[in-house]
Amino acid sequence: MKTTDILIVGGGPAGISAAIWCQRLGLDYLLIEKAEQLGGQLMGIHNQIVDYPGQIYATGKDFNDQLIHHIHHLKCNYSVRTPIKWIDLDKQIVKLQWDETLLHYCYLIVASGTSVRKLNIPGEQEMIGRGEIYSATKDRHRFKGKKVVVVGGGDRAFEGALLLADCGADVVVVHRSKQFRAREEFRKPVLEHTRISVVEDTIISRIHDNGSQVDYVELENVKDGSMQTLAVEGIFVRIGVQPNTKFVKEYVCHDEDGYIQVDTCQRTNHPSIYAIGDVCTHPIFSSISVATSQGMIAAKHLSLQLSCRNVD
Ligand SMILES: Cc1cc2nc3c(=O)[nH]c(=O)nc-3n(C[C@H](O)[C@H](O)[C@H](O)COP(=O)(O)OP(=O)(O)OC[C@H]3O[C@@H](n4cnc5c(N)ncnc54)[C@H](O)[C@@H]3O)c2cc1C
Repeated sequence: MKTTDILIVGGGPAGISAAIWCQRLGLDYLLIEKAEQLGGQLMGIHNQIVDYPGQIYATGKDFNDQLIHHIHHLKCNYSVRTPIKWIDLDKQIVKLQWDETLLHYCYLIVASGTSVRKLNIPGEQEMIGRGEIYSATKDRHRFKGKKVVVVGGGDRAFEGALLLADCGADVVVVHRSKQFRAREEFRKPVLEHTRISVVEDTIISRIHDNGSQVDYVELENVKDGSMQTLAVEGIFVRIGVQPNTKFVKEYVCHDEDGYIQVDTCQRTNHPSIYAIGDVCTHPIFSSISVATSQGMIAAKHLSLQLSCRNVD
């Protein structure tokens, strides 16, 4: 059986930062990322990143290129396209998808981030399968003069609606209640925009396609159950995110929204499990800065733990 002192699961900014610090502290570690490449959510940021101290990046990919350059320079130990086949959190053993041998770890750092919430309605999976997942920032020009629907009532929904409408799309914002979480900065311009209409107390219950792309949606009023159809050419689902905790969910305490609870050293209630980044940070505070600092804290704390073990 192979062994490692620290197994970092997830190669977004949090996991990458933990790997950099583990390397710097001379620890025995491995970072595994299930996707084709490192970067996590960074790869989906198509606008400028202006709030990470030190540099303004044109896109998340630019930021990620720098991170990858950095970890290659330091010769960090990582493996992409490496999903977990199964994990035994009691015995601290993991079986990786493409590796025949088992891996024993002393400590697990969960850095698995969040995924966007889906509607989970008929027609959605087919839409995703056709690649009809759009970014309002990157793809807005293709919807000029077309009708699109944006689902959600938070910042991302409202900001997206504004980008699309300012670019000439006719936008229908569909929201399940009358309460919008979006901040005032977005709310007023959306509600007053001539190209945006807002449909409250309503959900999308089905997506229909014409064989090659989205054609129309069925809308259901959650108050009176009335139905209507709406012809659209693009759907932007912006109903928030959920933490990726499936593989540890039963073992660690989490809050009511599923975010892993940690102490100031990034420890969970389980003695061998730490968590860092968006998986343990509520969206209001989630950011690259928080994720990278938590990576550092976990690695430094583990360095102390492991040095105590070596002294014993
Ligand atoms: C559109 C958008 C714009 C943003 N703009 C900004 C901004 O301007 N400034 C800012 O500070 N923040 C911004 N953010 C937020 C920022 O990207 C996140 O806070 C940050 O990426 C969190 O890093 P993370 O490593 O915790 O998680 P993630 O970036 O989500 O990375 C988690 C990684 O774990 C991997 N993973 C999940 N499960 C497993 C598993 N079982 N096995 C192996 N790997 C797994 C995933 O594939 C992913 O690569 C933005 C986010 C988005 C979506």
